[in-house]
Amino acid sequence: MNTYFKDLNKLPNNKIINDMRKYAKANKVPIINDEGLTFMLTLVDILKPKKFLEIGTAIGFCSICIATENPNLIIDTIEKDDLMYNESLRNIKAAKLEDRIRVHYADALDFALSNLEDNYDIIFIDAAKAQYSKFFEKYEVLLDDDGAIITDNLLFHGLVINHNSIENKNLKSLVSKIDYFNFWLKKNKKYYTYFLDTGDGIAISRRVKKKWNC
Ligand code: MG
Repeated sequence: MNTYFKDLNKLPNNKIINDMRKYAKANKVPIINDEGLTFMLTLVDILKPKKFLEIGTAIGFCSICIATENPNLIIDTIEKDDLMYNESLRNIKAAKLEDRIRVHYADALDFALSNLEDNYDIIFIDAAKAQYSKFFEKYEVLLDDDGAIITDNLLFHGLVINHNSIENKNLKSLVSKIDYFNFWLKKNKKYYTYFLDTGDGIAISRRVKKKWNC
């Protein structure tokens, strides 16, 4: 985001959030960038979700920012890395949001859905990028009819657009999987999806509702 808009936007800003930003930078933890965060806050402000599910907590930065701005929101968030999980618990406690952000220490692909609510207004997929279609197919059953599934990092630092020129094999494989997911999502007839060139590339998918012929 350009510094002009960055100054105009009022992103959540307190000691805990600033400390999280510093921690993420020092420890190379990828957290949502300001443009992506602005989008998420806008979406939550407009859709007014009551229940939010996040796949991929990391240090809890996005959850804490969203919960701080929306006092009635309950968040479930899943993290499989024990270091990230513990760091997120520390941050959520410091932000006094333990009663509204529940962190589940688990691999989201193995996690039992019975541990969660059954009607989230927003499901935010922001975990292992190679597994996006699996996350989507597993968790879409928990989406409220009027809800939205958000997927993040669909451009992967712009690499998805030019993935044929990537030489590193593992990176190329990962980026190809994101590219595959983007087209899988585009072709998914159960949803209509908007792909936004904001943050690191974000998609918002909403259910196509059945139209009954009377
Ligand atoms: Mg992300």
